[in-house]
Amino acid sequence: MSPPDRICASCGRAFSWRRAWADRWEEVRYCSKGCRRHRPGPLDRALEAEILALLGQRSRRAVVTPEEVARAVRPGDWSAHTERTRRAARRLVASGAVELLQKGRVVDPSTARGPVQIRRAQEAS
Ligand SMILES: [Zn+2]
Repeated sequence: MSPPDRICASCGRAFSWRRAWADRWEEVRYCSKGCRRHRPGPLDRALEAEILALLGQRSRRAVVTPEEVARAVRPGDWSAHTERTRRAARRLVASGAVELLQKGRVVDPSTARGPVQIRRAQEAS
């Protein structure tokens, strides 16, 4: 049996064990070469922080959109950073801080396609 899936430290999507990684699976953090090249840097951390900051100013069930977050961090060229913001949001899902919604329902960040909203992870009540 293969080891369980892991979350990519760059795109925040789940990925599966592959035979090519058999010798070093413990060290594998990125799902692809592309993600390894685009490992999170200061701007990515700033996007994560802004998601949490905006949500922190709102009620527990309020949402933000990646577009809103990108606008706050990069007002001049925000539209070039929406996918990067979605990646930040997926990483925060992996850390347990937030969840992603589509049409009011929580979705799997690894498979969701199209516009998403972000809200704080909801504690069971
Ligand atoms: Zn990835």
